[in-house]
Amino acid sequence: MIEESVSGYKLPRFEYHRPADFDKTVQRYPVVIVGGGLAGLTLAADLSTRGIPFILLDEDDTVGVKGASSRGIVYAQKSLEIFDRLGIYEKIAEKGVAWSVGKSLVGKNDIIYEFDAAKKSPSIQPPFLNIQQFYIEWFLVDRINELKTGEIRWKSRVINIKAKQTHTCVEVETPEGTYWLEADWLVDCSGLASSVRERLGLETFPEKGTERWCISDIRFKKDLPLERWTWVESPVNDGRAVWQHPMADGVWRIDFQMKLDSDVEYISRPDVCEERVKKLLGHDEPFELVWVGPWASRTHLLDDFRHHRVLFAGDSAHVFPPLGARGGNSGIQDADNLGWKLALVLKGQAQESLLNTYSQERRPAAIHNTNLASRSVRFLSPQGEGQRVLRNAVIALAKNCDFAQAMINTGRLSTAFSYQNSDLVAPE
Ligand SMILES: Cc1cc2nc3c(=O)[nH]c(=O)nc-3n(C[C@H](O)[C@H](O)[C@H](O)COP(=O)(O)OP(=O)(O)OC[C@H]3O[C@@H](n4cnc5c(N)ncnc54)[C@H](O)[C@@H]3O)c2cc1C
Repeated sequence: MIEESVSGYKLPRFEYHRPADFDKTVQRYPVVIVGGGLAGLTLAADLSTRGIPFILLDEDDTVGVKGASSRGIVYAQKSLEIFDRLGIYEKIAEKGVAWSVGKSLVGKNDIIYEFDAAKKSPSIQPPFLNIQQFYIEWFLVDRINELKTGEIRWKSRVINIKAKQTHTCVEVETPEGTYWLEADWLVDCSGLASSVRERLGLETFPEKGTERWCISDIRFKKDLPLERWTWVESPVNDGRAVWQHPMADGVWRIDFQMKLDSDVEYISRPDVCEERVKKLLGHDEPFELVWVGPWASRTHLLDDFRHHRVLFAGDSAHVFPPLGARGGNSGIQDADNLGWKLALVLKGQAQESLLNTYSQERRPAAIHNTNLASRSVRFLSPQGEGQRVLRNAVIALAKNCDFAQAMINTGRLSTAFSYQNSDLVAPE
């Protein structure tokens, strides 16, 4: 069934089906995935292509987050290569907007830095492709259903976990009551506020930034180049940053940097947002607000992405500030790293210790992403006089000096991470 969401997009609604587990003694499954966001669905599609059966449990019955924006929009080349292997890249390419040129600007339209990532591209996929996150999730669901190797159970919320040395017991709440199942391997992909992590008492050391942004997803007809533009200091936003990105369906993501600790309700009011957009597009340019909402940057990181027979992927394991489009891309790449390892262990072709390399490889990738995204936050929201003086000196020099251009950091976009300290990497 397809239904119109609050933001005017037509999204699918998937049916809940009564699982056979209600009528049997507790069943054991090779892999149970908690959460059908980017990480969980990518893993499920990956296992499907390898013939590994799984159960994916999601508390919701649709893709994306109900009542919210698309969240992620930028997908990096490495993720696009993974989607190509999983058989959904063609659909993504048809719907989304491929791009490679990014520009950083000051004043009205003064370019201080410009890149074209296509010039050094090693792949047949484009350097970046923008598309609303829920479309990717939807294509993944369709692919998983097409391959029929595992089962997605909608309206199935994990409410209790017991981690044992040899397996994990999982209690699932559904519209018709609760049941237990067991997993040889449980993969928690239930996102930022993972209740699995909480049940297991695992600490993530969260931190929340003070800077505030307001997302505006806007549809307009003005003919703009399909590029990423970032104003470091925009006169239409009281000297604060603005990002402009094209995405599917003729919608543009325009992020406005707000004052530190702004009142999030006020800055997201449609009339307040419209005034900002008019200043940017011009007062005579007609536009439609598709979605408006605030965001603040936050970080968290698990000490180990494996706990007995439970593995953590995506936002459940790590969260970075969105500058640089790393969160979803990283969850997709976690799933890509984990899929083949789980498959080899379950087929008896590798020892269980292979799965330790998942955390050895993906945790440093998460730290790398956190560091780079935090640097972008510091550039766009300098904290204290020292950082501000340095940032302004870089901007002043960037027009004429290459070395200063390299220091302009308006959100370095994610690239593939190379693993150094894994048991799978031979010492040099
Ligand atoms: C404003 C913004 C812009 C962003 N832009 C980008 C971008 O351009 N590129 C990018 O790569 N990333 C971006 N991100 C980050 C990206 O959206 C997230 O990193 C990504 O959604 C994480 O995916 P996930 O699968 O780990 O978790 P989620 O997408 O949060 O999915 C978790 C799933 O688990 C389910 N669930 C939760 N609890 C339970 C439970 N107890 N039982 C069963 N199911 C459960 C939920 O229903 C949900 O489907 C952005 C984020 C924001 C906020």
